Amino acid sequence: MTGGALSRPKVAALLSEERERFVASHPRSRAAHEEARQHLMGGVPMPWMSKWAGGFPVYLAEARGATVVGVDGHEYADLCLGDTGAMAGHSPAATVAAVRERLEQRGGATVMLPTEDAAWVGGELAWRFGLPLWQFTLTATDANRFALRFCRQLTGRRRVLVFAWCYHGSVDEAFVVLEDGRPRARPGLVGAAVDPTETTAVVEFNDVHAVEAALAGGEVACVLAEPALTNIGMVLPEPGFWTAVREACTRTETLLIIDETHTLSAGPGGCTAAWSLQPDVVTLGKSIAGGVPIGAYGVSADIAARIAADTEGDYADVGGVGGTLAGNALSLAAARATLSDVLTEAAFGRMTALQERFAAGVHATIERHGLPWSIVELGARAEYSFTPAPPRNGSEAAAATDPELEDYLHVALLNRGVLITPFHNMALMSPATTEAEVDRHTDAFADAVAQLR
Ligand code: PMP
Repeated sequence: MTGGALSRPKVAALLSEERERFVASHPRSRAAHEEARQHLMGGVPMPWMSKWAGGFPVYLAEARGATVVGVDGHEYADLCLGDTGAMAGHSPAATVAAVRERLEQRGGATVMLPTEDAAWVGGELAWRFGLPLWQFTLTATDANRFALRFCRQLTGRRRVLVFAWCYHGSVDEAFVVLEDGRPRARPGLVGAAVDPTETTAVVEFNDVHAVEAALAGGEVACVLAEPALTNIGMVLPEPGFWTAVREACTRTETLLIIDETHTLSAGPGGCTAAWSLQPDVVTLGKSIAGGVPIGAYGVSADIAARIAADTEGDYADVGGVGGTLAGNALSLAAARATLSDVLTEAAFGRMTALQERFAAGVHATIERHGLPWSIVELGARAEYSFTPAPPRNGSEAAAATDPELEDYLHVALLNRGVLITPFHNMALMSPATTEAEVDRHTDAFADAVAQLR
């Protein structure tokens, strides 16, 4: 068997067998989902929760560390970790203690007053990412939205540049892909106010010439990018790519926004620190408050000075940058504890070692069966793809997706006690992840792949 020669009827048959097994072993989740359909659209509180390949999601009972228990009593090694929202592990002790203290002892989740925790977190992120000034949102999506506004306001330019098949949250400007080399709105985009090709230029990741050409006219306010694509499988930058993009930005006075929401997996200061990226703005969110909602944006001294000097923009009230619950005391107490005690430099070292153990396990299975598959690694994160060499850009990665095979692997892993992300094949390590949990994936993956023979 090689991946190219997988028998499609066999994949389909195995998928339906695994689905039957999943349905039979999850009666309570199934009943909960049926019941939920009465008052939740599609039976789920958020649309993407219906992506789980079993036909309905496992309903959560408990989650501790990197272990999740569903209402049917099954235990899972959680390598999905809330698609990075739980990269600190579930309910890390330091975060729980800080949340308790804020809510129970001191009180005040949302008061519209700053706390000392906020300044501490700003200082910590400044040190980690090399950008001096920070503010907070409730989601990474909002951090990106506001960053785009700043860049347009300060440059007086309207357009944005993104990479094909990027994802930056539900940010309108980012839903553009390339089809036969032509920009178009991402298929299925819901209710766009304007065709996003009007607001956005799009090029392939790792294509320096295309970036330079797109910026040459001086019409682009900013590049919004992940340091490595992580939302269409994972695509790493080629040597020299970011140096060239940074230079092109500087030359054309285009600002560079680096979205570290997922790539924080690379280390305490994400890829920005690990690869000396020198962005003008960094955005992030998801994991930095240990699962409590938060997003953040950090800016260079130059951007901060330009914002301070801008008399046109309303940065304090209803100018389009804000959120009543953003910057709240609870999120910042949780972020302070998570950054000081959980997502530490030492923790990243352990997480990366676990990921290497994970990747070695995946490699062994790929090699044993001579599969033309590959695995891409970025610190605590890894992703397998069904191509002999890792994809070089988003369109190559999109072409390599195999929804049926992914569904099969995802349900087969679920049935063997392992959660990975319901979209593509991402696995992530937390400071609480154990070697035994990694090995559970290694065994489950080996068994699921062996069935394909
Ligand atoms: N940026 C990146 C790189 C992301 O992957 C995501 C979500 N997957 C976001 C931003 C948005 O995060 P949220 O949905 O928590 O706002």
